[in-house]
Amino acid sequence: MGLDPSGLDFDCYSVPEVTEELRQQTGPSFRLHASTSSGKLKIQSPTKTSLTDVSDKAKTLGDKLVLSPTDTAVIALALDLLKQGENPVIVSDDYAVQNVAEELSLTYQSLATLGIREKYNWVYYCPACFRQYPTGATQDCTVCGTRLKRKPLDKVAAKQRDS
Ligand SMILES: [Zn+2]
Repeated sequence: MGLDPSGLDFDCYSVPEVTEELRQQTGPSFRLHASTSSGKLKIQSPTKTSLTDVSDKAKTLGDKLVLSPTDTAVIALALDLLKQGENPVIVSDDYAVQNVAEELSLTYQSLATLGIREKYNWVYYCPACFRQYPTGATQDCTVCGTRLKRKPLDKVAAKQRDS
């Protein structure tokens, strides 16, 4: 989402799932390559134990809370680092990620506080009744049950002005 690890004063970690997601995008994948080859960004898989801890915690928070496998891996890696005596901060604007992190006593920060070059404000919305939801709050519209879609915030705002 535009985070540039080379501009940060501390070690950065990510998971292989994120590398995979960024491969298609020129800007982010360039920064990813630059950061990993300089050693600034470490790509690491979380332990199975922590993955299970995160999934279990997410379940106790209710089925409305949606964590993608990538989100789960990011939180699990932070949990591993915490167990190793580090003091990790999860960087995410995702509502579900922040909630689960809080439950696990993990610190999180939104991207906006870190000086981001490009920031995409995603919004989840119902294509049938146009209600909007925070990221990760729910997969289906709680009013009409339609599967939610995701759009950059600006586009959704523009579309609503037209109609
Ligand atoms: Zn709806």
